[in-house]
Amino acid sequence: MHDHADQSLAIVGGGPAGLAAAEILAEAGHAVTVYDRMPSLGRKLLIAGRGGLNLTHSEPLPAFLARYHPPGSLAEAIAAFPPDALRAWCEELGEPTFVGSSGRVFPRSFKASPLLRAWLARLGSLGVTVRTRHRLVGLPEGGLTLEGPQGELTVRPRASLLALGGASWPRLGSDGAWVPLLEGLGVPVSELRPANAGFTVVWSDVFRERFAGEPLKRVALSAEGASVRGEAVISADGIEGGAVYALSRVLREAVRARGEARLVLDLRPDLTEAALGQRLAAGRPGQSTATRLRKAAGLSPVSAGLLREAVGPALPAAAEALAALIKAAPLRITGVRPIERAISTAGGVEAAALDGRFMLRARPGLFVAGEMLDWEAPTGGYLLQGAFASGRAAAAGMLDWLKA
Ligand SMILES: Cc1cc2nc3c(=O)[nH]c(=O)nc-3n(C[C@H](O)[C@H](O)[C@H](O)COP(=O)(O)OP(=O)(O)OC[C@H]3O[C@@H](n4cnc5c(N)ncnc54)[C@H](O)[C@@H]3O)c2cc1C
Repeated sequence: MHDHADQSLAIVGGGPAGLAAAEILAEAGHAVTVYDRMPSLGRKLLIAGRGGLNLTHSEPLPAFLARYHPPGSLAEAIAAFPPDALRAWCEELGEPTFVGSSGRVFPRSFKASPLLRAWLARLGSLGVTVRTRHRLVGLPEGGLTLEGPQGELTVRPRASLLALGGASWPRLGSDGAWVPLLEGLGVPVSELRPANAGFTVVWSDVFRERFAGEPLKRVALSAEGASVRGEAVISADGIEGGAVYALSRVLREAVRARGEARLVLDLRPDLTEAALGQRLAAGRPGQSTATRLRKAAGLSPVSAGLLREAVGPALPAAAEALAALIKAAPLRITGVRPIERAISTAGGVEAAALDGRFMLRARPGLFVAGEMLDWEAPTGGYLLQGAFASGRAAAAGMLDWLKA
């Protein structure tokens, strides 16, 4: 076992939050070492690149900040490094961005790998040291214990930042194993829960076999008083996709409180119930319900199947009642898909555990940033923006603390 007291700063976790902090600290002239348990850095960022790398969103800042929960989370950090600043930073790294039709912001290359490569090269030129395959296993007073290829070592940097991520997609590196380490210091940690996750629904065998994997395009979903338009996807054991993720906080909390939740689907959000009723009533007499749903209501086979899953095989015959069902088909949500399969993590180090500099009140000199903090946000670029901005803000907090 080695023990090093040194003058450098340590960052554990080489995702977007940790690397953003490393950049600020190295630019300020500090010797920075980034430790990560994986053989390479930024694996979750690279996976996010598979979807084109939705870096941030172009909506005005007040609307942008309102997407974060609990309300007010990361507001100061994002105001200090807002979406425009993130876009300018990407451009400086040779990856100019554009605003997609949905208002989401992507690199023009639509990829994460060139951005990560350029970023790591910049960090290298700033003198940042990277130690991969080093896993944080202990937090002794004033130090960090890491398990590396040569065994355990304890380092004693002047200040350290933990940016260990949440607990979704653990094979990419963030596995939430830090929770007991911080709880051991008396740090309040709110239970890690799936965010932007799918939900379970008990489908009939027929429906599952025929429709698992089918998208539900241009639908509106509502639950617990919240409503979103978008796309959902039927899975073998439930429902997922962008519109479901957007409701995942309210659905998850309802399931937590009551063991189940109700998700209401509007399968023709572009038509009023009255207009839909008229179309259904205008069909030829003697037409089967299946034909009316397809021809008059314009429903896809999966949507028609969903109506039967919602109310059973005998659908209402009257046009008005059928229209009402198409506009509000109720699905019983029986559970949340596991956090391992969620896009992100809710819960984490509670705001009360930190001072205004992202430093743990329980352990002066130890800072925290990124998804391991207790905030959540929908997909749309809010997650990466939160990670980048909180990493930079925590680095600014470290610089401030080091000065004092
Ligand atoms: C499939 C998928 C797609 C996504 N797409 C998008 C998107 O398009 N837009 C968006 O905004 N967000 C997206 N996200 C979310 C986004 O990638 C994360 O919110 C973001 O990466 C969080 O950054 P972070 O630095 O806090 O944590 P992470 O990126 O998780 O990095 C944490 C790092 O800490 C390391 N680590 C963990 N524990 C230890 C330990 N004990 N010791 C040492 N190292 C450790 C890990 O190996 C990892 O490298 C997506 C996520 C997934 C899973």
